Amino acid sequence: MRRWIANVVVNVAARVVDKTFSYAVPDDWEIHRLLGSRVLVPFANRKLVGYVQSLTPVDVSPPGVSTVELKPLLEMLDSLPLLTPDLLALAEFISYRYAATRLQSIETMLPSLLRGMPRQKGKDSGAKAYPVLVRSASLSELQQALSSARANAHWLKKILADLMVDEEIALAKWAITPSHSSVQQLLERGLAQMQWREKPRLQAFYEELALSSKTSTKSLPELTSAQQRTLAQLSQALAVKESKTFVLHGVTGSGKTEVYLRFIEQIVKAGGGAIVLVPEIALTPQMVEKFVSRFGSKVALLHSGLSDGERRDEWMRLRRGEACIAVGARSAIFAPVANLRLVVIDEEHEPTYKQEESPRYDTRQVALERARLCQAIVLLGSATPSLYAMNLAETGKARMLSLPQRANGRPLPTAQIIDMREELRNGHTSILSRALQEALTETLARREQTILFLNRRGYASFLLCRHCGEGVECPRCSIHLTLHRQGQTGGFRLTCHYCGYSTPAPERCPACAEVAMRPYGLGTQQVEDTLKELFPTARILRMDVDSTRRKGAHKDLLDKFMHQEADLLIGTQMIAKGLDFPNVTLVGVLNADSLLMVPDYRSEERTFQLLTQVAGRAGRAEKPGSVLIQTYRPEHHTIVAAARHDYNAFYQYERYQRLQYRYPPFCEIAAFLASHQEERYAKGAAERFFRELMRHPAPDGVVVLPASPAGLLRVEDRYRYQVVVKYPEWNNVRDWIIQAFDTVYERMRKIQGVCILDVSAGRI
Ligand code: ADP
Ligand code: ZN
Repeated sequence: MRRWIANVVVNVAARVVDKTFSYAVPDDWEIHRLLGSRVLVPFANRKLVGYVQSLTPVDVSPPGVSTVELKPLLEMLDSLPLLTPDLLALAEFISYRYAATRLQSIETMLPSLLRGMPRQKGKDSGAKAYPVLVRSASLSELQQALSSARANAHWLKKILADLMVDEEIALAKWAITPSHSSVQQLLERGLAQMQWREKPRLQAFYEELALSSKTSTKSLPELTSAQQRTLAQLSQALAVKESKTFVLHGVTGSGKTEVYLRFIEQIVKAGGGAIVLVPEIALTPQMVEKFVSRFGSKVALLHSGLSDGERRDEWMRLRRGEACIAVGARSAIFAPVANLRLVVIDEEHEPTYKQEESPRYDTRQVALERARLCQAIVLLGSATPSLYAMNLAETGKARMLSLPQRANGRPLPTAQIIDMREELRNGHTSILSRALQEALTETLARREQTILFLNRRGYASFLLCRHCGEGVECPRCSIHLTLHRQGQTGGFRLTCHYCGYSTPAPERCPACAEVAMRPYGLGTQQVEDTLKELFPTARILRMDVDSTRRKGAHKDLLDKFMHQEADLLIGTQMIAKGLDFPNVTLVGVLNADSLLMVPDYRSEERTFQLLTQVAGRAGRAEKPGSVLIQTYRPEHHTIVAAARHDYNAFYQYERYQRLQYRYPPFCEIAAFLASHQEERYAKGAAERFFRELMRHPAPDGVVVLPASPAGLLRVEDRYRYQVVVKYPEWNNVRDWIIQAFDTVYERMRKIQGVCILDVSAGRI
């Protein structure tokens, strides 16, 4: 018999032990259940949980490992390995590509209830399981047992009779427990077996959805010729089993979702699986319903609105093969879908696809790698493809598909740019231009609906003293506090959008003590107030982080608007995506410039994307829509291009800029970030990192920017300094960067207080 060594990623957080540890596999263990399972291992006089990363036969043991000295594994903790071989390989990729530890990479793939030590040993931890009896003898044997049973053995006879009809029955049917004497008797005599079945926590939800969509029996729309063409190209690629990437550029309302649905239908029919990723805030009930009503319980949902238990159940349904379509946000890219044939990333351009904590992966890159490992197709869908996606197409790594028209043949709404400087010159200081007020009045009169978009929640961006010009900063972060009103009539408070610090808004300036504090910069609450004054009879909803904190509030608000219980929806980014309201004919963007002012090389791209998305909410059904964009920079090329739906003009300009100033996708960016409560340590660590890098010659084409304060110098009482590296190819700089990182890491361990160091690689 062959003997094995298990290479295990042990659950120790420290970066210094970021490697696998080898253990001997006890001879009587089932080897096929071991790879990807959690195990209990002896580690420095403790017992710790680990993940079996790979197995090596003893006769080819890794160099330097003496098999004689290996300690044996103590216990296998999963009945079904959590991580399949493709996921194990993906974890390796992530720790390499994003400079994360192996443990971080593995644990980021798993639902929290399946990480570390199982809460209940033996069974799948955290399952809501119920006991069933399963017939394990022939019908004639049961018949025999039934006729020979004693006359007063009522329970036994009843159970036997039932088991002759149904092969498997939940104990709940007889309202008895597993310890019941009749059950014990049946088990002892080998007539039945007891097993545990799992009831997914979301089951009731699916049943309800399936029921409500059945009653509305909508027939599927006939595909437009553009949709058909797109589908045909995808099907063709599917026939050849190799990894391929497509960029689907489809204007808002062009029926991209319908293409995903039809393609997945083909895949599922052929026994394959799919992952569909949507930005968290686009995971609306509308979107979920589309998938569940088409595919029923073959769908598993994975998003942050679920409880830990629900996430675990959904994940396990995929792992056991009961479901084969994962629909979810970013982390669903790690869903254990068997025979994966397709990964869809809808609204591929969304920034939420970048994870902002370690491992700082970019979902699109991870999707490409997962598809490569599984020979699957990646479909990047967007009305405004990112520069990254376009670059894939330009360099031959992806193929373009396009849906240039709306599925229902309606034109895209014309957008009008409103010059707010002109308004001011004419003495109009309202936050709503005259044109927008008129359009609102007309839309209300026609009993149609309006969406107003604003990028800032709260009442105002900040409070400034008109006497001395001082604002109020967060005591823990280097940022102005945002003004919020509490409730409809409550007092004003200042709140930090980074750390949550909150304090009553002062009447007197904290700096000069004059009573001269004044709000600047619009927030959604203020817009709501203004609208109520201007349109006292209009029914208004506001949707932002503050109004959707309660669980279910998001859905409630959208339902209300859908059922036309409101005329006006004011909101932040949350309302920009995926919503499909047929009665919305007017969309207003209140301050398009606020998006442009973010100091980031992607701010114009973000502006173009958001304006296009928001504008796409108007006129989706029979009624034509119009879009008004208020701005102080009416001639700005990004705003002009968005208003004209001219993606190509935007793209060519932006591409040129990125090439000129060397920004992604023409390089990648890595940032080293050091933070400490004392500024000198954070700064010192960043400077040290820079010097370490400079000790070795930089690889070709690399640009290193010296240590500087991070975008926000201080967050939650910690100072932050960074070193930014632009590089063409991660493979060529990885060792160079990691070496410098490790050196600084070692040094900072000896410093007082906690210094948090982090490398964020692969920004694209
Ligand atoms: P996108 O995701 O591209 O914005 P959707 O897939 O949401 O577009 O489709 C927009 C609207 O058009 C939806 O209401 C959808 O039901 C409808 N639709 C999609 N395909 C067709 C079609 N072939 N014929 C008619 N309506 C369609
Ligand atoms: Zn703060």
